[in-house]
Parts: sequence; structure tokens; C-alpha cells
Amino acid sequence: MPGYRHLLLAIDLTEESNQVAEQAVALAKVFGADLSVIHVIEPLSVAYGGDIPMDLSSVQDQIHDQAKAQLADFAAGLGIPAERQYLIFGRPETEIHRVSECKDVDLIVVGSHGRHGLALLLGSTANSVLHGAKCDVLAVRVGMSE
Ligand code: AMP
Repeated sequence: MPGYRHLLLAIDLTEESNQVAEQAVALAKVFGADLSVIHVIEPLSVAYGGDIPMDLSSVQDQIHDQAKAQLADFAAGLGIPAERQYLIFGRPETEIHRVSECKDVDLIVVGSHGRHGLALLLGSTANSVLHGAKCDVLAVRVGMSE
């Protein structure tokens, strides 16, 4: 039967996450589907290529704790229980794909800035999630670009 059973909402914890979440919540209701939420923390050592000669683990712990609280708050506002909240270290597109496959997700919901020009060439998370996804992907247009 067509439709969706399990939606995965990917959020970067910016204000725009609300716009993306609204659509995901509405769609989950229409289909009577489960809704999970994921936020991926990019490890500092990856972001800075190991160039900083200091131990970043305590900074990383603080980032993790802050993101965990923010994600829990956000998810609670949407009525998403703790067991469907995923906070993971890694590359966003890789982890979004991995969780969606492990958890039998059939629709991934991401935000898209509808970039063009150079930014389009450089790619975006929405683009990266679309390429290589084993299920459908909904890109919700966010921000003010025309
Ligand atoms: P971006 O292309 O980075 O502007 O992000 C567009 C969308 O990708 C966001 O609205 C989220 O849906 C998703 N996204 C970006 N970064 C993350 C992240 N760290 N964790 C989960 N989703 C993300």
C-alpha cells in the first residue's frame, strides 16, 4: 500500500529546523506514520583536519551535552519520545543514511536552501542526503532565497 510508515526528520538545530519539522509532523499525521528525529555532530577533529595541537575532547563533550539538551527539547515539543531521538557523531549525510536504513525509514525529511551558483556546485546537506538515499527524500524549502 502506498504511503509512509516511518519518517526521519533531520535537523541542524538552527531556527529553520522548525519549518522543516512542521512539514514532517503534518505528513506523519496524514500517513499515521512514526516520526523520528536525528541531529549529527561533526567531530571537531574532522572539521579541523587534526590541525589544532590540543585535546579537543572536553570541548567535544560540551558540544555533545548542549546538542543533547537542545534535541531533547525540540523533540519533546513535537511529541517525539527519547527512543526515537538520534544524536550521533559523524558526517550528516552518512549518519542520516545509516540510521534511515537501520531503522526502516521510508521518508527522510531535510531542509533545503534552494541554493544556486557556487553554493550549488559545492553542494548541500540536502543534496548529499538525496544522493545515495535508499528511500524517498523530502527537501523542505527553508530561508528567504527566491
Ligand atoms: P545545509 O545544506 O547544511 O544548509 O542543511 C540543510 C538541511 O540538512 C538542514 O535543514 C537539515 O535538515 C539537514 N542537516 C544539516 N546539517 C545537519 C546535521 N548536522 N544533522 C542533521 N541534519 C542536518
